[in-house]
Amino acid sequence: MNQRAAREALKKYFGYDNFRPQQFEIIDNIYIGYDAVVLMPTGGGKSICYQLPAITLPGTCVVVSPLISLMKDQVEALKGNGIPAAYLNSSLSVDEQRYVEDEAYHGRLRLLYVSPEKMVSPSFMPLLSKLKLNLFAIDEAHCISAWGHDFRQEYTQMRFLKRQFPRVPIVALTATADKLTRRDIVTQLGLREPAVFISSFDRPNISLNVRPGQKRIEQILDFIGERSQQAGIVYCLSRKSTEQVAAKLIAKGIRADFYHAGLPAAERNRVQEAFTNDEVHVVCATVAFGMGIDKSNVRWVIHYNLPQNIEGYYQEIGRAGRDGAQADALLFYSFQDVMVLRDILTKEESKNTEIKLAKLERMQQYADALNCRRKILLSYFGEHLAEDCGNCDVCKNPPQSFDGTVIAQKALSAVTRLGEKVGLRMLIDVLRGSRRKDLLQLGYDQIKTYGMGADITANDWMDLLRQMLHLGLIEIAYDQNNVVKLTAASRAVLFEKQAVTLVRMSAIREQRAARKTKVKTVTQRQRVRDELFEVLRQLRRQIAVQKGVPPYIVFSDATLEEMAAERPSNERELRSISGVGEQKLARYGRAFLGAIRDFVADKTQEGVRVKGGSQLATLQLYRRGFPPEQIALERDVTVQTVYNHLLEHYQNGEEVRVQDFVSKPLIQTILLVAESIPEPRSIKAIYERLGERVDYHQIRFALAYLEKKGKEV
Ligand code: ADP
Ligand code: ZN
Repeated sequence: MNQRAAREALKKYFGYDNFRPQQFEIIDNIYIGYDAVVLMPTGGGKSICYQLPAITLPGTCVVVSPLISLMKDQVEALKGNGIPAAYLNSSLSVDEQRYVEDEAYHGRLRLLYVSPEKMVSPSFMPLLSKLKLNLFAIDEAHCISAWGHDFRQEYTQMRFLKRQFPRVPIVALTATADKLTRRDIVTQLGLREPAVFISSFDRPNISLNVRPGQKRIEQILDFIGERSQQAGIVYCLSRKSTEQVAAKLIAKGIRADFYHAGLPAAERNRVQEAFTNDEVHVVCATVAFGMGIDKSNVRWVIHYNLPQNIEGYYQEIGRAGRDGAQADALLFYSFQDVMVLRDILTKEESKNTEIKLAKLERMQQYADALNCRRKILLSYFGEHLAEDCGNCDVCKNPPQSFDGTVIAQKALSAVTRLGEKVGLRMLIDVLRGSRRKDLLQLGYDQIKTYGMGADITANDWMDLLRQMLHLGLIEIAYDQNNVVKLTAASRAVLFEKQAVTLVRMSAIREQRAARKTKVKTVTQRQRVRDELFEVLRQLRRQIAVQKGVPPYIVFSDATLEEMAAERPSNERELRSISGVGEQKLARYGRAFLGAIRDFVADKTQEGVRVKGGSQLATLQLYRRGFPPEQIALERDVTVQTVYNHLLEHYQNGEEVRVQDFVSKPLIQTILLVAESIPEPRSIKAIYERLGERVDYHQIRFALAYLEKKGKEV
């Protein structure tokens, strides 16, 4: 199987034009019959890596997958592309199981998904040994490792596969695997010198943003307001806050719901399903929500609180934009969160507290970053990004630094005079000259620096002190009620006049605010595009409901977006959209083309200039029986333009009668002349040969006719 054949299959079955990085290499490796370990981030496109060989090689591929809901989605998606697939797990009745087994036995399935329990159960062996196997795919292969959090006992019992079926290649796939897990995968499955594919963990389509955790609900409402109808997740720290946030969003008319591990299983299923089917737009959830969601059109993820570590954070934001279309990650960050998390982690009964605290610190550094956030993320995973990403808030609004020596001196002086005995809040209140009761009672209004920082808002002070913390100018004594302490570096600032460079946070906030208003002045073109996208989304929903499948099984968001931008007007153009394979073209092509056409026609009627609108208006008048001259008058365009439009429609397979413009005998004459002159046949040459007695458009129509007939023969 060469790359071209593989690419043709990719287009035919999945509608994609190109492989993503590494996909073909992995597939090729399987074709040759080698084992492989594949590490790819969520949304990287792991499934295609085994599905394509499964489809193009003779026989059946058996896929082990640990989650029933994922299995179902995958099989649904495959069927949506016309690929025979089924699954076996405990959710099926005995009869259903028997039916699937029978299908498999008769070689009617290209892919058979099984749960790990099924795979290792002795009762499965007879069937397995009768199948013509082309590949074993072990999905979520990190479940094999006892170190990880998703450990599954059955995964460690699959060594027999290699022993019983030494000729069948095994591909193990996962999105999370450190070196240790990787080694476990290889040894436990008994893989033979497997090729190891490690893809970049970069997800460039996810825009990274961090904002101060103030007025979060207000900020979320703004954020969602700019993205109405889009699917998103708000991750919260506690079960209770998932409920509270959801309630506040619902009160504002947003279709939100909440999800956490404390809910009964049936309720969790309901929420997950409603989200999958686009009935619920926003789910406020704890981190319990996510594993098992195969929804490709989650457009944004908000972290209401700081996550505990970068691994978790990256996995959670990775649930956005799996279809490759633009997506947003927004993290709210406050120092308060850090303290709460530290508290939780230190109180937890665990040996690894130190490691966990260190991880939290890395998370905090990310949130505090003053350089490209993506660089920080990727470097955490051992990847180096050569250039700034341009798609994070820091890249978009580079911080402006200024000489913060005096500010730092004021703060440090206050810390000294307060005897290193107060926390950040009190420190700020002293600096700002607050009349807080306890402050006055303690006599803090008597110290020299009291009120000397009143010109800076409390929020800005918080930002500045956080920066000082990262510069090592102050320390927080987490074991002593979080009081602020001096460091060796702070003494250098206080007594040796060492200069301090800080970053103006308020300037960043202003820029952000300015950008927000700018975003709102969208172009007319963009608006039309959004409108059409909405129309297509509705259509997708109708079809999905009718067929009883999730909307993204019909088409992904990315595909609809491309349709809305390109506005294909015929099958050929529709086929060239990414995500439109043969099956989907046959099933949904007419409906979507019709919707796009109606939309364009409506817009043109309203006087909005839309790409393809003019052509369509011409066609409509032609269909109503108007001759070209009349159409030209009606539409205020030249007759030549009308001919061009109609010719284009004819070439695109619309019902345009050539004989309306050029008689049969004349076509014959033109064709004879055309054949008598050497290639390339220019219209002008034909025109001259015919003694300039025939119109250009007639020659064009005749040639188009010739081409079409030539193809039909
Ligand atoms: P993973 O299993 O790695 O999380 P998936 O296999 O579910 O990722 O793929 C994520 C999304 O990317 C799916 O919507 C899939 O159809 C799409 N996709 C995969 N490969 C390609 C490709 N070559 N071109 C365009 N989209 C792709
Ligand atoms: Zn960046």
